[in-house]
Amino acid sequence: MLNLEIITPEKVLVSEEVDMVEAKGSLGEFGVLPGHIQFLTVLEIGEVRYTKDGKTSYLATSGGFGEVADDKVTFLLDTAEFADDIDLERAKIAMEEAQERLKELEMDTAEYRMYELALLRALARLQVASKKL
Ligand code: ATP
Repeated sequence: MLNLEIITPEKVLVSEEVDMVEAKGSLGEFGVLPGHIQFLTVLEIGEVRYTKDGKTSYLATSGGFGEVADDKVTFLLDTAEFADDIDLERAKIAMEEAQERLKELEMDTAEYRMYELALLRALARLQVASKKL
């Protein structure tokens, strides 16, 4: 088993024993099973999945850091929401707002980058919310 901890500035969202964890790091998607080599990675905006007793849980996550060491996986993230907790309407509004702003703004500015990230967060939330059972 792996001990998974997903921590945001608001709370410890997940603290449990799981069979497998998958996430997107700066070098792409990675999966962690027990016995995984130790590593440290930046986490990208996207989806985090973990499996326990054959059941997969999905979270939409924003950026952060991940550490794997001694069958312990720790993710420190700006924000993270379980599929069930995502407000679909809010994510749609955030997506549309970001798309509108990106049309108006000049590329290669800090503001443009800010809305690019907002768009990625909204898209991740919409993608993960669609996995709700
Ligand atoms: P918005 O423009 O809707 O606020 P955002 O991407 O700017 O979206 P964040 O700054 O990433 O929002 O998150 C702020 C807080 O709101 C966090 O606690 C995050 O978990 C929560 N949150 C953001 N969007 C949603 C959503 N669609 N459903 C549920 N919680 C959300």
